Amino acid sequence: MPFSSLGLSPSLQKALLAENYQEPYPIQKEAIPAILDGKDVFGIAPTGSGKTASYVLPILMNLQKGNINKSRHINVLVLVPTRELAVQVREVFQVFSLALPEKIKSLAVFGGASINPQMMAMNGVHVLVATPGRLLELIDSNAVHLTDIETLVLDEADKMLNLGFKEEMNRIFAMLPKKRQNLLFSATLSDDLTNMNQLLLHNPLIIKLASETDNIDLITQSAYLVSDERKGPLLRYLIKTKNLKQVLVFTSSILRADNVAEKLWKNGIKATSIHSKKSQEARTVALREFKSGKIRVLVATDLISRGIDINFLPYVINYELPRSPKDYIHRIGRTGRAESPGEAISLITPLDEHHFTVIQKKIGRSISMFESKDINLQGF
Ligand code: AMP
Repeated sequence: MPFSSLGLSPSLQKALLAENYQEPYPIQKEAIPAILDGKDVFGIAPTGSGKTASYVLPILMNLQKGNINKSRHINVLVLVPTRELAVQVREVFQVFSLALPEKIKSLAVFGGASINPQMMAMNGVHVLVATPGRLLELIDSNAVHLTDIETLVLDEADKMLNLGFKEEMNRIFAMLPKKRQNLLFSATLSDDLTNMNQLLLHNPLIIKLASETDNIDLITQSAYLVSDERKGPLLRYLIKTKNLKQVLVFTSSILRADNVAEKLWKNGIKATSIHSKKSQEARTVALREFKSGKIRVLVATDLISRGIDINFLPYVINYELPRSPKDYIHRIGRTGRAESPGEAISLITPLDEHHFTVIQKKIGRSISMFESKDINLQGF
């Protein structure tokens, strides 16, 4: 089914092609027509499923039809749990709105950054992507009004509940007009979410996609038994001899992430690290260069195993195992998504063996382990 059959305008279809979106992902096939139709939607879909475009595209179409633009009265509110996601979602709005004849202004606002520039930028905004706390601060300062909201989106609603935004969200909900379209997206389905759904949504279209665990069989998993000292050389051996491109390597500490990246670089493999000690700007650049292929290996802590999506990632290497099986699934879930298969390799020291057995038991899969002591690592 092509994008053209979903009711999107020719200018948006052109922009989709320019972004190399050839065909709609499953969630987009279902959500786009329903949202265009004004329906409420409850999407249970992990990051990487294409959920952002599934609401951004029809929202932009609907805005073209309606009466937009009243200063400081926004039309669409997207609530997200983190600043990273706020920036990422806003970028998708920006990319596609540039293709439209009628200019739609979008803005991301989040805490941890100074409020003044965000207040100044608010004039004429149609789509506001916000974390709840900062939104309330802006409302309290009279910088934004919610009385004209036509569409409310809660993205990663499960995380918002986990992170304890419930009270803030209730305050926000109380300010919204009664008649509006509600779109709720979440990677998981909890009791809290089911309650929120009942409170918020009117006769919604419910879309449930396969979870990361369901997708696990798309991923080839293997492991190497290796001593701690030989881990670095083995990593470089695997990357070079298997000619791996676009490899995401996970470590459990920031120090180790920097260290592994540095050693790779010294050995002629373009690598960089990404973790919470890096500035927002450095993280954005690292992700961009990795996505574009300029950097071959990105060494990360678990910071990015949730939330931020890297599409079509072929390889994940666990340089160190995560503590919980859930994190293991999140990490390897970076590959093997949206119909593209992936490979996950774990480096296991004798000390990790027991923990690795626990992980395999919890995910219900047995992973083949190769002994690495006979591999000649000289020169790596
Ligand atoms: P999301 O689940 O919204 O985080 O999106 C996951 C990734 O898939 C993003 O990098 C999008 O740019 C990309 N994407 C979304 N829809 C499509 C599509 N139909 N074709 C190709 N890429 C897509």
